[in-house]
Amino acid sequence: MKPFDVVVVGAGIVGCAVARECAQIGWRVAVVEGGVLGGGATAAGMGHVVAMDDSPAQLALTAFSRSLWGGEALPPSAEYESCGTIWVAADDEEMAEVESKLRLYEQAGIEARVLASEALAAAEPNLRAGLSGGLLVPGDSVIYPPAAAGFFLDEARRLGAEIFLARALSAAQGHVMLSGGLRLDAARIVLAVGTHCDLLPALPIQGRKGHLVITDRYPGFVRHQLVELGYLKSAHRVAEDSVAFNVQPRRTGQLLLGSSRQFGSDDPAIEARILERMIARATEYMPGLKHLSSLRVWTGFRAATPDKLPLIGPATGLSNDPTLWLAAGFEGLGITNSLGAARLLVDAMAGRRSAIDPTPYRPARLLEPARLAHA
Ligand SMILES: Cc1cc2nc3c(=O)[nH]c(=O)nc-3n(C[C@H](O)[C@H](O)[C@H](O)COP(=O)(O)OP(=O)(O)OC[C@H]3O[C@@H](n4cnc5c(N)ncnc54)[C@H](O)[C@@H]3O)c2cc1C
Repeated sequence: MKPFDVVVVGAGIVGCAVARECAQIGWRVAVVEGGVLGGGATAAGMGHVVAMDDSPAQLALTAFSRSLWGGEALPPSAEYESCGTIWVAADDEEMAEVESKLRLYEQAGIEARVLASEALAAAEPNLRAGLSGGLLVPGDSVIYPPAAAGFFLDEARRLGAEIFLARALSAAQGHVMLSGGLRLDAARIVLAVGTHCDLLPALPIQGRKGHLVITDRYPGFVRHQLVELGYLKSAHRVAEDSVAFNVQPRRTGQLLLGSSRQFGSDDPAIEARILERMIARATEYMPGLKHLSSLRVWTGFRAATPDKLPLIGPATGLSNDPTLWLAAGFEGLGITNSLGAARLLVDAMAGRRSAIDPTPYRPARLLEPARLAHA
């Protein structure tokens, strides 16, 4: 078989976005998927496209990616809703955080508005009374990730990309060996493998388990993606299991309820104790939720890196193979960051200048010993 310009291993939302970006510059592209197309973390995630300010580098990438989502002509199946986010402040201390978050967003050119207690209650009447207020970020949105991934892959295919439904058994020095015995040759191999590290065991990625619940249809019950301000504190807590109030309105009228974070478990089983904590937290903020019916509960795994930033760029340092590139380690932001990551990676592979500084996401940063331990 004629060599490809690039073989992308993994057809989650990240691999699909990378494949499309490569196909758009005229490269001959192969995509290899060993499971279900878009069926990994992409099918398990919440689909919140969000500007997140955990660190300056995270804010830069999420803001850049969010701007790219705005330019997508997504099909109706992707259920794009520009509902905005409200970060909910429960008390004065969290209200002070609202102010500092506002300043950060303003500096980054992201529209945001402070809501006082009454304005919050008017915007979301089903929140409990007495909350202090919140920060409305109108430019955030919600999508249905597997359909968006399918759309990117269809576009890549339309531009000539070939799909191989097989497991990659090895990927090195420009050769990808598939489970059916086929060998693909390429100038570049991109590992967009989510939490699967078997092709490159040096990948510093751990799975971080999350539970989600979806309800029956209750149109208008929630209008924005609502996240408690304590969410970031909970996302930082790595030594213990954590839960936070996070609820999303779906276009169908359903509510998607998150979220939990757990390290140290690779068992996808639903854990009643975590679910109970999650629902208790959600009903603290939104008491009426306890009268709604849930339809399904599931779990998924976020691909966490030691410094909570993704790995986008050459695998240098983790491997001495010059053909190996990474688009992995997206933790809880891989839906949001898929488009920005694809753009940065293809910029690097094609020798183009990037719209934002790509260095904070380069895998080689993890060679600094202090950053290798999972904090
Ligand atoms: C509970 C939960 C909630 C989330 N909420 C959000 C959210 O609201 N917003 C957001 O931005 N992100 C969210 N995320 C994160 C997001 O879902 C992930 O970061 C994103 O889906 C990662 O996409 P991916 O393509 O990197 O990985 P995946 O979707 O896991 O895709 C990797 C693919 O690679 C394939 N693969 C692996 N190894 C091989 C091999 N050797 N050969 C062939 N194929 C292989 C796998 O089969 C899989 O299909 C959430 C995640 C979870 C778990």
